Amino acid sequence: MPREIPIDRTRNIGIIAHIDAGKTTITERILYYTGKTYKIGEVHEGKAVMDWMAQEKERGITITAAATTCYWPPKERTGHTQLSGDIPIHQINIIDTPGHIDFTAEVQRSLRVLDGGIVVFDGVAGVEPQSETVWHQADKFNIPRICFINKLDRMGADFEKDVASILDRLAPNAVVVQYPMGLEANFKGVIDLIRQKALLWTDEMGAQFEEKDIPSQFQEKAGQWREKMIEKIVETDDNLLHRYLESHQISDNELIEALKIATKKGKIFPILCGSALKNKAIQPLLDAVLEYLPSPMEVKSAQAKDLKNPDNPYEVNPSDDEPFSALCFKIATDPYVGRLAFFRVYSGKLSAGSYILNSTKGQQERLGRIVRLHADHREDIKEVFTGDIAAAVGLKYTSTGDTLTIPSHPILLESITFPEPVISVAIEPKTKADQEKMGIALGRLAEEDPTFKIKSDAEIGQTLISGMGELHLEIIVDRLKREFSVDANVGQPQVAYKETIKSIAKAEGKYIRQTGGRGQYGHVFIEIKPLERGAGFEFVNKVAGGAIPREFIPAVEKGVKEAADKGIIAGYPLVDLQVILYDGTYHEVDSSEIAFHIAGSMALQNAVRRASPVLLEPIMKLEVITPEDFFGEVMGDLSSKRGQIEHTFDRANNKVIDVMVPLAQMFGYATTLRGMTQGRASFTMEFNHYAQVPTNIAQSIIEGKNSTKK
Ligand code: GDP
Repeated sequence: MPREIPIDRTRNIGIIAHIDAGKTTITERILYYTGKTYKIGEVHEGKAVMDWMAQEKERGITITAAATTCYWPPKERTGHTQLSGDIPIHQINIIDTPGHIDFTAEVQRSLRVLDGGIVVFDGVAGVEPQSETVWHQADKFNIPRICFINKLDRMGADFEKDVASILDRLAPNAVVVQYPMGLEANFKGVIDLIRQKALLWTDEMGAQFEEKDIPSQFQEKAGQWREKMIEKIVETDDNLLHRYLESHQISDNELIEALKIATKKGKIFPILCGSALKNKAIQPLLDAVLEYLPSPMEVKSAQAKDLKNPDNPYEVNPSDDEPFSALCFKIATDPYVGRLAFFRVYSGKLSAGSYILNSTKGQQERLGRIVRLHADHREDIKEVFTGDIAAAVGLKYTSTGDTLTIPSHPILLESITFPEPVISVAIEPKTKADQEKMGIALGRLAEEDPTFKIKSDAEIGQTLISGMGELHLEIIVDRLKREFSVDANVGQPQVAYKETIKSIAKAEGKYIRQTGGRGQYGHVFIEIKPLERGAGFEFVNKVAGGAIPREFIPAVEKGVKEAADKGIIAGYPLVDLQVILYDGTYHEVDSSEIAFHIAGSMALQNAVRRASPVLLEPIMKLEVITPEDFFGEVMGDLSSKRGQIEHTFDRANNKVIDVMVPLAQMFGYATTLRGMTQGRASFTMEFNHYAQVPTNIAQSIIEGKNSTKK
């Protein structure tokens, strides 16, 4: 079966924005104009198409990374006039990216699979702290971008100020290609600075618009901005620049061509504008996606490891004729079809019903059905091709970040790395009867979200859930209630400390019981060594000469690992160490797996106490933006919170402070900062690294923890 839409007419894009900039509204309008939804539903009425889960609608934020497919120009070809004359139908896959900082892992994984983005700004606020965070993440992944200044109908909208904030704070190489006609209640449409036409929206739903000559009152402004635009565009191409300086004669097509090339390379960022709520200027935004954002063939090739030839670098060639390879970027549970694994195809094609190899796990799987998700329906497709984004039904072992290939050509695409959770709360169901239901529900949620973890502490009969921030966990608790009808009580948020060791030590573990009947006998010697931060836990077996029979080694490893997970000095997981099992003894009759399991666990406890154990704590990276007047006070407060100031600098009329602060000091910081600065300062925060807790503080944490255990 041939592909319906050629690869060069495919676009995988994300709408990147911080919360409230209008991402949901824009997505909804896009789905409306592309002919897939028939009614525009406002977010506040709870009808947004992309918002899958009930509580997302209520909060008005989008936290999942599902993908939706649409076509532009619409298959019905209605309501589209500007460029469509004869542009063929393109397929646009919109990959949902969340806007809240707590979900950076979700942002990262979606950025990994998309080829281009629309970055949305609020026309009143311009660049906000969180716009900078998402912008820098997109920088990290080299994602070509179009900027869209939204909400120009709002009171206080100021296009020129917004543009200045983009140029100043994000990208001096952004270029205005549309200029608004009027602002606030007078916002009527936009001027296309390249084609020098005015686009005016005439009906309430914005389906129709007129293309006119630029009205006389806008001609001067449009002329000035066009001049700036041309200068920026020609600067991206030496030949063009040369000709421009000599003759000032550059055709519109040449400008478009140069802008296309430079935008796809991420050298320049076109700025468009409009109002999603008032249905103005969404169609030209879609045109711009087709014109300026790259197809899967035009982006840098994905890097991979060829498992049959691991030493040679391997670049994936994005072609249907190559062997199949794909990356799973999201697991979701769909109420109708069950477990859905969203994936992006990097090369080759594959039919539903095929056997594939999950090369990350070394596991064969059958890909049952393949579905494509549209705004209002799910479509079964028979085959996927290079560049496609779709979801698989029936994969049992595949999780986020895994590579899927054909068994005869196993390669490993670069995986997606997720930060470890840094905050936990104790959770218990309000009724005992819900205990089991809660366990199942939490398990399901953890499978969807690699940054959400569950831990049951049988000793104190407690379940701890951990995630990336307070809001992240709040949303999980909310989903428990809405999707699984489990009402739960939660405790105070706690920092997810870890334990580690600072020196090398040896110890033995001996578990011998001789009380009537068959006894127990397990005896091991281990050595432990610190590893670098982030290395996790390593177990090495160096037992020689059968001192411990081979069949008992896994039991020792299990015992050691179990003790490490439980923690030794304060009940936090022990990490960043290597455990070497180097000797032991056994008994012909009495030795058993359980005896070696216990001996392993005892040995680790003994060894850790001799290896200078310490506590580690998550350190957060903060950017605080404050008016000059409060600078001293904010700095003083950060120092008292054990903050390490990295830089301070001026931006517009504000002071910016980059600082590292332990998470333990950050609970309730939003309120503190607001109080200290009359609400005029703002901050963003993300996890950076784990570091040793100072000894005196560690002491009180350990004492506190051990006293609650008793
Ligand atoms: P998201 O959090 O980025 O998904 O933002 P939403 O799409 O939920 O929009 C946040 C709020 O801004 C909602 O109340 C929208 O109705 C409103 N909004 C979105 N776009 C516009 C716009 O163009 N003009 C105005 N005035 N409000 C808008």
